[in-house]
Amino acid sequence: MKVQLLHSTFDAQGVATLEQRLTCFLIDDCVAVDAGSIAIALTNEQRLKVRDIIVTHPHLDHIASLPIFIDDLYPELKEPVRVYATQEVIGLLERDVFNWNVYPRFSDLKNDYGPVMEYVPIPIGSPFKVAHLDVVAVPVNHIVPTVGLVVSDGKKSVAFSSDTAETDRFWQVLNELKDLDALLIEASFPDRMAKLAEVSRHFTPASLNEELKKLAHNGMDIMAVHLKPTYRDEIVEQLNALNIPKLKVMEPGRVYEW
Ligand SMILES: [Zn+2]
Ligand SMILES: [Zn+2]
Repeated sequence: MKVQLLHSTFDAQGVATLEQRLTCFLIDDCVAVDAGSIAIALTNEQRLKVRDIIVTHPHLDHIASLPIFIDDLYPELKEPVRVYATQEVIGLLERDVFNWNVYPRFSDLKNDYGPVMEYVPIPIGSPFKVAHLDVVAVPVNHIVPTVGLVVSDGKKSVAFSSDTAETDRFWQVLNELKDLDALLIEASFPDRMAKLAEVSRHFTPASLNEELKKLAHNGMDIMAVHLKPTYRDEIVEQLNALNIPKLKVMEPGRVYEW
């Protein structure tokens, strides 16, 4: 399985940097997990292929350019962009984003070929299909309804924590898996900002270290993501100091293969 964290920050010369301001993972060039930078960081080839997008929660850094992505493709879509989310999150997207004020309600619109956007409500805790992938969504502990995901292509399994603080069900689900090849986990704030991490329901390197003790699997890659750009260097240093084998900071733009 190929997984890429899309770029979301560019310097004044237009060169992509390592800072992650938005969240969008691309799996096998065709399925997106979240859509923060989906309209700005796909290749043209990827843009033609991506029609399945799983939205873990409605925070702006995870959906920022989703409306623009659909807008860009509007006249040429021969099938709808499918947005997979819990019913609760679909309701929030319809109320707060695709509400004719912030942006058009694309789920009501058609181009010459048919509907341009379609919601696919996802179940909690039981598997569903997204393109060639099997996915399980698990509620995690964030300030809005949010799911973590386990994604499998039949050979490899990759888990996405999404945004979360201390949680239990997610780890239980991972511990029940036979194999886990990679865990993509958030580490948003440096340790000195533990208070803010707590109220906004995110991890620091220290709280992540505690949390990982709940994980029974060994040997999988652990990729830290969602490092707040302002504190990136400090968080990287603190993550490295944990000395957790196979814990790395995920590099935007790079294609990882499991
Ligand atoms: Zn969030
Ligand atoms: Zn976020």
